Amino acid sequence: MNAWGTPHCQCVKIPARWFSTIVATFTGCPAIHFDSPDGLAMLDGLIGINRAFKGIFIMAKLTVRDLNVHGKRVFLRVDYNVPLEEKDGQMVITDETRIKETLPTLRLLIEQGGRLILAAHLGRPKGKREPSMSLRPVAGRLAELLGCNVNFADDCIGEKVEQLANALPAGGVLLLENVRYYSEEETNDPVFAEQLAKLADIYVNDAFGAAHRAHASTEGVARLVARRGGQCAAGLLMERELKFLGDELEQPARPFVVILGGAKVSDKIKVIDRLLEKADSILVGGAMAYTFRLAQGFKTGKSLVEADKTDTARAALAKAQAKKVQFLLPVDDVVAVPVKTDKLDKKGKPVMEWQNPRASSDLNCPDDAAGLDIGPATVKAYSDVIARAKTILWNGPMGLFENKQFAAGTNAVAKAVAEATQQNGAKSIIGGGDSVKALNKAGLGGQVTFMSTGGGASLEFLEGAVLPGVAALSDK
Ligand code: ATP
Repeated sequence: MNAWGTPHCQCVKIPARWFSTIVATFTGCPAIHFDSPDGLAMLDGLIGINRAFKGIFIMAKLTVRDLNVHGKRVFLRVDYNVPLEEKDGQMVITDETRIKETLPTLRLLIEQGGRLILAAHLGRPKGKREPSMSLRPVAGRLAELLGCNVNFADDCIGEKVEQLANALPAGGVLLLENVRYYSEEETNDPVFAEQLAKLADIYVNDAFGAAHRAHASTEGVARLVARRGGQCAAGLLMERELKFLGDELEQPARPFVVILGGAKVSDKIKVIDRLLEKADSILVGGAMAYTFRLAQGFKTGKSLVEADKTDTARAALAKAQAKKVQFLLPVDDVVAVPVKTDKLDKKGKPVMEWQNPRASSDLNCPDDAAGLDIGPATVKAYSDVIARAKTILWNGPMGLFENKQFAAGTNAVAKAVAEATQQNGAKSIIGGGDSVKALNKAGLGGQVTFMSTGGGASLEFLEGAVLPGVAALSDK
């Protein structure tokens, strides 16, 4: 039971092939330590049962298409966590992608005569009214994009807000102030959630990027609305996320090629473990490749590695071999010598200058250098595998792509994924965050099948974790 008095597990349909895993588990799976070398393989049974009871990929949830919202107050959780910059004393939105992505859901609900109450968070105000994190600028831009009036409430709970919500006409829109101005949002406080729920007849969640958090506006309100017999549905954006990250990967067309990069093995190990069950090939890049190198006994110089995760890396390699999954690591790199400068970045960390950048096919990195991108031979090998794929899942950049000197590998992979999609009809699914940034930067965003809007949420979903914001929605 959780703090809300509801059980953690949900009753769901279980695919036949998981059933055998569950049976195997019940008939005696030894207790094991996750980081032990055979841990990954032996954990399968336990993870299988865990996933099955959480019902990942298979729960059909109610969507906005199933609702009759006419005249009803629809509490719509959206992801308006947009980047803002101060210009001439005013906060200006520098990237409105997240606002635009909600428009189809909003238009549908407006057309059907719903009375829309939009809730969102912006930044991390930590329970305080931080003016630079107000959602007011979003209301203005949203009104322009929708071509209709958008009311703004300078709070998200309380009598005044309730009056504004109750006064909304059919098709009217009200945006609430940042829910994270209250610390109770993140603690999923039942009293706070109850105050939000006073604004709702129906609950809709279109904020996939926030669905991995059990917060009041993502989970608590939904539970309360459902408890009173109200419907809780996925928005169109959320529906697409569940379709592509869930259903499409459940039965992927083969070959199914997974490309994983980014900084840390520890962030991706659960995804690797899960995808080793499904993928035909896994291609590894980014800094995490160096933890695998270290695990294989090579020198990694000043590369970003997680020295305490070499057992985990070895276990993944062993599982790949056992499952006959092609598991490719870089065969060459772009390396450079890091030199600290006097400058500090936004986070106060010293800015690095990278000297003598060069391609190197020596798997032992020089002591004074770091591996910062995959090299040309790796690009070729990975591109060839990608060109034969029918389903592609990509999560994480191949190198320090923010720096032009080390972006070639990520850009080449982006190009290969786009080409496989356009020329061979492969279905390409991009797992969010930095890979999406890299694709957009390369102007290839429109040439893949689906780009997830949720960074952490997509990763957790791919791991097979239950997303509280999804679990709280009504089943069909
Ligand atoms: P995605 O957002 O696509 O899911 P991610 O954000 O999960 O990917 P992270 O694990 O957060 O990926 O890592 C991304 C960061 O890793 C980027 O800032 C990138 O510069 C950095 N990175 C990748 N390769 C290297 C490398 N070889 N050395 C240092 N940093 C690297």
